[in-house]
Amino acid sequence: MSLLSLEAVSGFYGDFQALFDVSLTVEEGETVAIIGANGAGKSTLLAAVAGTLARVEGSVRFDGGPAGGLPPHARVRLGISLVPEGRRIFPSLSVEENLLLGAYSGRPGPWTVSRVYELFPLIERVARTPGARISGGEQQALAIGRALMANPRLLLLDEVSLGLAPIVVGQLYAAMPEITGLGTTVLLVEQDVSQALRAAGRVYCLLEGRVSLEGRPGELTSEQITAAYFGV
Ligand code: ATP
Repeated sequence: MSLLSLEAVSGFYGDFQALFDVSLTVEEGETVAIIGANGAGKSTLLAAVAGTLARVEGSVRFDGGPAGGLPPHARVRLGISLVPEGRRIFPSLSVEENLLLGAYSGRPGPWTVSRVYELFPLIERVARTPGARISGGEQQALAIGRALMANPRLLLLDEVSLGLAPIVVGQLYAAMPEITGLGTTVLLVEQDVSQALRAAGRVYCLLEGRVSLEGRPGELTSEQITAAYFGV
């Protein structure tokens, strides 16, 4: 049984359809990446899993049970945590207060403030600083740490690398093995295709709201990926 399975999922913003019959699975322990051009529907797909997309059709199942009708907080309690694009740090709260909020409505498990600081020493240094006053890289580490505080079984990461210097992106991705090693499965959206192929055991490519390719990085040719990405 897959940890997450989507069958024929369509997603809408009002009357606008952004996802068409998307089917995918994520097995426990995997790291799966979703790639695709701007507007392909990657963030919408994560929103459909996290419960933040208002109109979804088709089946979303988590750990064998239906999750599609549940509100976001109920999905957090089941073990689905989203790190949204743009990070959504609470600007007036300190780094540590932001982390502690992540545990609210979460699950019991291995993740604590001190474990997050071990994972991301760069945010321990700014533990008492308001969220608004830390760097973009620190904010991204904080957003991931805050999601981990809920002890997710499935961590949804939207555009970790967006707007960050390569060295910072490297630091964030270097933390992934430790995250998955503690039992969290990762489904990530990444604009940087080579980064996605390095980080993930399996990838899905979206093209205009549809799955255009699925496979393991080592088994996909760059021609296949280019064709699925651009639709040529
Ligand atoms: P990006 O990397 O640009 O975020 P994406 O692959 O994540 O791209 P989505 O953000 O999921 O793409 O957007 C998919 C489609 O849905 C796009 O056509 C986009 O314009 C549209 N869309 C996204 N958010 C909304 C919204 N809140 N209201 C209406 N349409 C939206």
